[in-house]
Amino acid sequence: NQELINCNRVISQFESTIQHPVRMAGSEYFTGVDLGTACIVLSVMDRDGNPVAGAYQYANVVRDGMVVDYIGAIDIVRKLKTKLEADLQTTLVKAAAAIPPGTNELDSGAIKNVVQGADFDLVNLLDEPTAANQILQVKNGAIVDIGGGTTGIAILKDGRVIKVADEATGGTHMSLVIAGAYKKSFQEAEEYKRQDKHHKELLPVLKPVIEKVSSIIAKYISNEKIDVIYLVGGTCCLAGIETIIEQKLGIMTVKPNNPMFVTPLGIAASI
Ligand code: ATP
Repeated sequence: NQELINCNRVISQFESTIQHPVRMAGSEYFTGVDLGTACIVLSVMDRDGNPVAGAYQYANVVRDGMVVDYIGAIDIVRKLKTKLEADLQTTLVKAAAAIPPGTNELDSGAIKNVVQGADFDLVNLLDEPTAANQILQVKNGAIVDIGGGTTGIAILKDGRVIKVADEATGGTHMSLVIAGAYKKSFQEAEEYKRQDKHHKELLPVLKPVIEKVSSIIAKYISNEKIDVIYLVGGTCCLAGIETIIEQKLGIMTVKPNNPMFVTPLGIAASI
């Protein structure tokens, strides 16, 4: 699948620049700010759309597109921005941000204020599936974004998002299930789940949540002709999630190497 090959190339480049930023004298940089329920990601690209640096932090300052800790959100974005500026030895000015589909004007205003409050010049605000598709370049199919709080479904026709839906159920629910099953605190369960070495053991425990996610997807795509489902969002890092969804829906389901970075990169690429 050519879309995935291209997407994986950009993601690998980005992952390497998180460790080793690429400084280029005189270049103009664009920053994508992804304010998620579980994680805040900043991705920096050059004018040609190549990733040059990135940073992220797990945080509980946004819930499903709604900023619940305004000062906390600004502090984190500012801290990540300062780190990236030191890495690149420049001042980052132009930024874009994304909003989950269905976010109302008030919530998108808060996201805008966080980005501007961290001293960025906000030059673009787009919806998350459109951002993800800047990197995936899907012409026809569905992009399913399984994040912390919600599962978002976007249907694409001729490269454009024609239908979106967003419903509760995501990685947070999985962590709650793990906390219950393993008698761990929520935080311990989160950290346990994020370690790839635990995924094989966790998959059967999380199967009911994945099947619930599959039924949400089924509800929104049942009237569409979908040949391929593309998974993005941090929860899709779970090894084997794609197999359960594919079996449940009977539709080919694929994911990039690191599904968590697709939307943040697409946000930067949108500028
Ligand atoms: P939302 O889209 O609901 O606002 P978000 O944007 O914060 O949330 P993402 O950053 O896409 O969502 O994903 C966060 C979720 O991904 C969290 O539940 C987190 O535990 C989960 N996650 C991150 N890395 C992994 C991993 N390696 N394995 C399993 N789950 C992971």
